[in-house]
Amino acid sequence: MADKEPRIIVLGAGMAGILAGIKLQASGYTDIAIYEKADRIGGTWRENTYPGLTCDVPSHHYTYTFERNPDWTRHLPPGPEIQAYFEGVTEKYGIDKLIRFNEEAESARFLNGRWHLGFKSGLQDQADIVIAATGVLHHPSHPSIAGMERFEGALFHSARWDHGVPLDGQRIGVIGNGSTGVQIISALAGRADRLEHYQRTAQWIMPVENGHFSEEERAAFRDPQVLAAAMKFEEYNAAVDAYTQAIVDEQSEGARNIAEACLANLENSVQDPELKEKLRPDHKPLCKRLIFSPDYYQAIQHPKVALVTEGIAGIEERGIRTDDGQLHELDVIVLATGFHADYFMRPMHIRGRNDAELETLWADHPKAYLAVSMPDFPNFFMLNGPNGPVGNFSLIDIAEHQWHYIDQLLARLRSGDADEICCTHEAMENFERARAEAAKKTVWYHGGCHSWYLDKQGIPASWPWTYSRFVSEMEAPDWEHYQCLSQVS
Ligand code: NAP
Repeated sequence: MADKEPRIIVLGAGMAGILAGIKLQASGYTDIAIYEKADRIGGTWRENTYPGLTCDVPSHHYTYTFERNPDWTRHLPPGPEIQAYFEGVTEKYGIDKLIRFNEEAESARFLNGRWHLGFKSGLQDQADIVIAATGVLHHPSHPSIAGMERFEGALFHSARWDHGVPLDGQRIGVIGNGSTGVQIISALAGRADRLEHYQRTAQWIMPVENGHFSEEERAAFRDPQVLAAAMKFEEYNAAVDAYTQAIVDEQSEGARNIAEACLANLENSVQDPELKEKLRPDHKPLCKRLIFSPDYYQAIQHPKVALVTEGIAGIEERGIRTDDGQLHELDVIVLATGFHADYFMRPMHIRGRNDAELETLWADHPKAYLAVSMPDFPNFFMLNGPNGPVGNFSLIDIAEHQWHYIDQLLARLRSGDADEICCTHEAMENFERARAEAAKKTVWYHGGCHSWYLDKQGIPASWPWTYSRFVSEMEAPDWEHYQCLSQVS
């Protein structure tokens, strides 16, 4: 590929796609197109606009490392500020000029050494290299609750918030108590005339401060050294490592500290013993993604807020009927019921070399060698793809490490040393075998809960080792695990 400028297509203009655009430009690639299905950048932060939307990763740790943001107003970044941050970065680095909006990729086929892409609009394009940066949690999961279509009020998924629906003084039911449902309850307590939180499984809740940064602090943070000293970026990474260690080893100090903090939060924050027992989880902390909340326990004890733990029998014209026969009359029902975490680029149809089909490779569950590459899908690399680290830390940081690795695969293509690069079948199988084995040792597997971390077989689908192991794997490709073909040979 040395004698011509490779054409590179990036799929998705969320956090990871923007990162790819910036890094590709910085490395001197000039033939880049970013295709985005929507009419704006932002991915998760464009699609989620629910009241209370916040990232539970501390603001200053939720940025690109090369583009810190002194202007965060709070310790935890509010969703609209995150969206504004990505829009600002996109403009600053000229990435907006690379993006084609309203173009949803439907298919990609590897033919004669190139990827041929088809879009919903009918557009076709070709590329030497494809970077899939399509995100993880973007296909809303709608529960199958009987009678949902009969409801006469407003009903919508948390990621499709209907801002035309009034909330103040209304009777609102929120189904689901993952990070999303908890944030919505905190935001609507005191606004709704009656707010009901439908909980199927109690969650462990980690207390967290969410104060404001003063104007003086924000001014001081313009000096990168002051910001680095205040935010202790290295120490934070050590804390992320301890968190991942806690998932792998529940005897670790980190695991004990987290369990103690969550338990103390419940014991000290909730007064009514009956409510406390309803809020007490029956699984181990960290089995589900930990919820960080500064105010959920306060919100759920608000006089106009109720926790409903009776099962949902169905939805009727006027509200939700619970298993005890009671009809809960409601004006609005919010489905904070999560996402299909196993879709990734799908429903895109992708066919690689030797007629390899993505659907066949992913028949059991999505898989990729080191979360980046798949055998027989040459020059097709993923950011935040399957089996990568996910949890209570910044996926921006994860994507940056992955980019560091992918950049080396691209450099080899560019050097002319190879025209087609993808991992070998053996590398993929060995990785997947070791990964599944390690996954069964994590608290996600034996912690006694169900969560979106699990695949259809009930095996955790994510990176089952520590953060530091991930960082070290992303240092450099082990070329023995790659098949590098040259078209002339
Ligand atoms: P989620 O964690 O998958 O939670 C879905 C909730 O819906 C669970 O409480 C689940 O109950 C409930 N549910 C699903 N189907 C149901 C049914 N038929 N009846 C009753 N309840 C039902 O989804 P999420 O809260 O949207 O969060 C998804 C992920 O998005 C998070 O884990 C996180 O990675 C990310 N997120 C991050 C932030 C952040 O601050 N960084 C904020 C929001 C979201 P069960 O527990 O019983 O299954």
